Amino acid sequence: MARLSIIVPCYNEEATVEAFYRASASVCAGLPDVETEFLFVDDGSSDRTLELIQELAKRERNVRWLSFSRNFGKEAAMFAGLEHAKGDYAAVMDADLQDPPALLPELLEAVRSGEYDCAAVRRVDRKGEPPIRSWFARQFYKLINKMSRTEIVDGARDFRLMTRQMVNAILRLTEYNRFSKGIFSWVGFRTKWVETVNVERSGGESKWSFFKLLLYALDGIIAFSTAPLAIASVLGLALCAASFFAIVFVIVRQLVWGGSAFGWPSLVCIILLIAGIQLFCMGILGQYLAKTYLEVKKRPIYILRESGGGNSDEGKA
Ligand code: UDP
Ligand code: MG
Repeated sequence: MARLSIIVPCYNEEATVEAFYRASASVCAGLPDVETEFLFVDDGSSDRTLELIQELAKRERNVRWLSFSRNFGKEAAMFAGLEHAKGDYAAVMDADLQDPPALLPELLEAVRSGEYDCAAVRRVDRKGEPPIRSWFARQFYKLINKMSRTEIVDGARDFRLMTRQMVNAILRLTEYNRFSKGIFSWVGFRTKWVETVNVERSGGESKWSFFKLLLYALDGIIAFSTAPLAIASVLGLALCAASFFAIVFVIVRQLVWGGSAFGWPSLVCIILLIAGIQLFCMGILGQYLAKTYLEVKKRPIYILRESGGGNSDEGKA
């Protein structure tokens, strides 16, 4: 019998863990010829999430859990889950029921048929989301797809089900700055897109503030495109060309009409403009350098504090 591992990153999800398990387990029980294991990854929650998961694991044989030493972020939690998943297939799902478990049979069927290596969910609307957030999100997808050769699908959720082969490919990408939407696409394989409408959180609160999302978007661009560096170089070249023409103009004017003392305010404006552009480009360079710095340190993506479940003895990782 094939095995399916469902990976669930959880950060302060005490309000939703139980409901998530109940809803998903009942769907999974109906999946033909598949044994399901749930792998909850507690991402350093400060509420009762871990306790609830542990209780669940005591009751249910198919629940395993990992717990981080602190909050490492959803990307790290997904990576840890994929690393520890034992199934022939692995799926990633949010704990807040925004990823409808009812789609699981369709996803599994697509991958099992052999026609696809991965089935992923994309939402076709952003109902219930603040309009400003939606607008920025849409602009982000437009921008990153112009800048990067890796296709990042607008509205793609992290909810997807994939084969062991694809999981292994993802695990080979051990970068520290992880942007999964890009990584899933970068590794390739045949992906079936299943569309759904936006579902609102079943309880608790979103862990993403606008600022956190903005930083994540920048991470995504830096991780999957070097276009900003090219833009900085082109901008530099264009300014050099402009200043060359300006110099020629000044020399000709001097020779033809003689010197002039006025013009310093415009000079100050130009100096300020150029200085600003220089700092801006240095900032772009700095971003790449900072990411490189973080990568070369080769720090682990996450640190486990404890793990357990699967009716085994719980213990330190
Ligand atoms: N999450 C996590 N670590 C974090 C932030 C979020 O593991 O630092 C998990 C969270 O518990 C949830 C999923 O990632 O299962 C999606 O988070 P959330 O629902 O807050 O994001 P949104 O759906 O609002 O984009
Ligand atoms: Mg959510």
